[in-house]
Amino acid sequence: MSGSLILAVNIYMLEYPKIIKGKTPGPVSMVMVGVHGNEVCGIRALDKILPNLQIERGEVMFIYGNPKAIQENKRYIEANLNRMFVDDEYLSSLEKNSYEYKRAQFLKEFLNKADVLLDVHASSVPDSTPFIICERNALDIVKYLPAENVTFGFDEIEPGGTDYYMNKHNKIGICLECGYLGNDQSVEVAKKGILSFLSAQGHLKLELKQNKQKYFQMYMRYLTRTDSFILTKQFADFEIIKTGQLIGFDGREAVKSPKESIILFAHNTFKRGGEAFLLGEKLADFY
Ligand SMILES: [Zn+2]
Repeated sequence: MSGSLILAVNIYMLEYPKIIKGKTPGPVSMVMVGVHGNEVCGIRALDKILPNLQIERGEVMFIYGNPKAIQENKRYIEANLNRMFVDDEYLSSLEKNSYEYKRAQFLKEFLNKADVLLDVHASSVPDSTPFIICERNALDIVKYLPAENVTFGFDEIEPGGTDYYMNKHNKIGICLECGYLGNDQSVEVAKKGILSFLSAQGHLKLELKQNKQKYFQMYMRYLTRTDSFILTKQFADFEIIKTGQLIGFDGREAVKSPKESIILFAHNTFKRGGEAFLLGEKLADFY
């Protein structure tokens, strides 16, 4: 009896945002975790942060992106929630009938109320280091986040995420990738990232330290033409790829880098039209 009561409370806590208001007016921010249900670092970080959190000014909405997937420890239930924030015409009927589509419509109500979003993710690649996905409108905030690498251009090559939705509506969307999802270190990165974000937004008065960061412009998403894309080797995120370097084979066709680049999210793919890797260009060191 008491077990089912606790479960009911937990479901409620995951479905609805926890909204904390400060003593004085200020910006409205959102911290989102668990858009991919198996990327638990943000959820664990909120477990540590929320019980004692007091906001100085403004308002912060803390929200669990995909409650069902979080409960099942899966990336998603029926469709990738982080591709549901495009206009309906870009979604298949399968996607439009998914649990994640319904959830995205619910989340939009709250995204519409926020000025700035921090969406906390983790990578399925072991040894992955933390990095940031944003556009240039976010630089004054991301310089305080605990990641060395900052990537621009996802809105163009891979639209449909929560950050894309915010930027499209002339607000600020930031994604923090906290490293490998199976690593305790990713929880620490998430916690530090959330607290730094809240301070940069003026919700908290913690001391802020500006990080040295490298900027990259993502310019290409490779979608497979056959149902068998095999990498020549396992590439680490941000590994440098030389001009003309062989990356993998799409069926029998050799796929090479058109210019010196960095590679992200490279993996073997056995579905035609699947995403095999992303390429980006280094802009500058340590702005
Ligand atoms: Zn994710």
